[in-house]
Amino acid sequence: MTRHISTCTLCEASCGILVDEEHGVVTGIRGDPDDPLSRGHICPKAVALTDLHNDPDRLRRPILREGTTWRELAWDTAFDLAATRLDALRKTHGRDALGLYLGNPVIHNLGAMVFTPLFMKSLNTPNRFSAASVDQLPQMVAALPMFGHQLLVPVPDLERTDHLILFGANPAASNGSLMTAPGITDRLDAIKARGKVILIDPRRTESARHATEHHFIRPGTDALALLAMAHVIFADGLANLGKCAAFTDGLATLESIARRFPPERVAARTGLSADTLRRLARDLATTPRAALYGRLGISTQAYGTLASWLIFALNIITGHLDVPGGVMFPTPAIDGRNLARFYPPASFGRKKSRVRQLPDFAGDFPVATLADEIETPGKGQIRGLVTVAGNPVLSAPNGRRIGRALASLDFYLAIDPYLNETTRHAHLILPPASPLERAHYDIALYHFAVRNFAKYTPAVFKRPADSREDWEILSALATRLTRGPGLRNRAQHLAVRALTRLGLRRVIDLALRTGPRGMWPFGTSKLTIKTLEANPHGVDLGPLEETLPGRLQTKTRRIDLAPGFIVDDLPRLERELDTPPTALELIGRRHVRSNNTWLHNSKRLMKGKPRCTLMMHPDDAATRDLTHGQLVLVRTSIGEVSVELELTDTLMPGVVSMPHGFGHTSDSRLSVATSYPGASHNDLTDERRLDAISGNAAFNGTPVEVLAAPTPQTTTAQTTTAQTTA
Ligand code: SF4
Repeated sequence: MTRHISTCTLCEASCGILVDEEHGVVTGIRGDPDDPLSRGHICPKAVALTDLHNDPDRLRRPILREGTTWRELAWDTAFDLAATRLDALRKTHGRDALGLYLGNPVIHNLGAMVFTPLFMKSLNTPNRFSAASVDQLPQMVAALPMFGHQLLVPVPDLERTDHLILFGANPAASNGSLMTAPGITDRLDAIKARGKVILIDPRRTESARHATEHHFIRPGTDALALLAMAHVIFADGLANLGKCAAFTDGLATLESIARRFPPERVAARTGLSADTLRRLARDLATTPRAALYGRLGISTQAYGTLASWLIFALNIITGHLDVPGGVMFPTPAIDGRNLARFYPPASFGRKKSRVRQLPDFAGDFPVATLADEIETPGKGQIRGLVTVAGNPVLSAPNGRRIGRALASLDFYLAIDPYLNETTRHAHLILPPASPLERAHYDIALYHFAVRNFAKYTPAVFKRPADSREDWEILSALATRLTRGPGLRNRAQHLAVRALTRLGLRRVIDLALRTGPRGMWPFGTSKLTIKTLEANPHGVDLGPLEETLPGRLQTKTRRIDLAPGFIVDDLPRLERELDTPPTALELIGRRHVRSNNTWLHNSKRLMKGKPRCTLMMHPDDAATRDLTHGQLVLVRTSIGEVSVELELTDTLMPGVVSMPHGFGHTSDSRLSVATSYPGASHNDLTDERRLDAISGNAAFNGTPVEVLAAPTPQTTTAQTTTAQTTA
């Protein structure tokens, strides 16, 4: 038996794992007790690494669609075909006839992270989209003007805080997000033992077991509640920026805004009593080591950027930014300054999408407008698309429409290990090797780690000779796409070849050496790839450190507490106060055994109680004459699905919840997932319902109607719990 020291790349926690192998077969995966960050923790999903590796449904070689059948191709033939078809579209219709979508798994993949920027440049299209706009985009949009970089999102110093308030976050299911914190429930329990963990959420989630208190809040009203808390802090004379006072602008503007939102004005609309809002604000302001954190629930809603801004702002005005026990900026060994050499500079709204005039962020448009850009004729219409590790038919709003749009493309290339609900529309699929067949260093997620940390993990298995890693696929395509004449092509071609020759290991080494802890030019310690290889469990770089004001990257090197384009959205929020909530509002939910649309093809993770149910409060069911376990129709402005009803008082009355990532269809090649099809949340979400500033999809708070399904059906087996209807 051989034991490999490795890293789980399935979620943001990045747990250290030990993989036991005998003759090329994984015989066990367990937590690595010597990993300084995860300290032996893993979650039930870790076993899915084996399942992904062994999955007979996982594609191993390129496949080409011919009508309704698929044929295997040799790799070079597939690369040539892809580049020829994309190049032909570019030559005939212009470079904006091509589009690119990057899915969420890219961020967890070293090779994809390193080679995607060059691939993007080689494709040379202005039409780019990514999963950020169905996730954390509002937090990045708020961080950019306030701190100067989208990766400067402060994270709670969990090891030292005594008081943690969580808005719209369920770390017990997500394992932490924009907060790399393996073993998060133990960390929450430790805070609870020495202080308070307060959960604000329309659902009393799994995280409530690790909290001292939970309060319901109506979906999409977090910004109102946060403004009321700011009001109390100013009205009570509790605003104290601490050391940030010396380099923060906009305090007077924020105060004049907050004065308009006393708790009594927002209580009814938010569902939080004025007394609760006052107590939350006062406790936050008067507890020396306290942190306020918001995640998906505040991000994927109609006021996502306002809520994200206010989370940052409240931490600042209570003196909790950049102090131990507050919220801090991690200092990873490879940081944003290194990455800036490869990735597009952070910018917001420099250009607008062609059809709906939605703003870009660092060159990416919101995926909510992808179907518009494919379906709307005219100059710039997308006719050829590349998707990398994404399943927007299930993960982006109005997925059914996205599916129709994909089916209309002249050429669609998917880089993906599965033939799923999205890639089934592709003409050609190039499948990368399994997660156990690639090396790993977490370029992005260490920016959000609750302790400074670095770890390099070689591949557990050498990839088979007839497979390719993600970076090899991207490199092969980029090489071919830049073979044309012209200086730009030549320079690009040389850059791709140079990076390919360098290889991932040496790229990481260079980035470490030129990073804040490297040897060049005058770093504080000597951290190179050899250091990491000599310490395979990872290198503990210590607790989070105070880094301000030096870390700020705004032009003024000061914090902007009231960015103009964010403040300008307040009248829209204020109008919300005069708008009574709709009778029922839909929110999403996540399960610890699931990860968006991934991992549904693992039998071990899918078995058990049906998960794709519509949760509803018993009082709401009673007024509609609905009963637990019956099939109901959920209807919105764009469609309807049928799903099993689950009654629970963990939901706020007036709110219903359905998980995302389901809706698997038999025309995919996912034999396990299609046995647990469920219904797609995104057959209900309207692509026109967005956060007005960032263009992020507003999944939370979708107005819905729920009624008994017309035809009674068996509801005991999960295989029949839900289906979509047109
Ligand atoms: S929490 Fe689970 S899925 Fe996430 S990295 Fe750890 S073991 Fe993997």
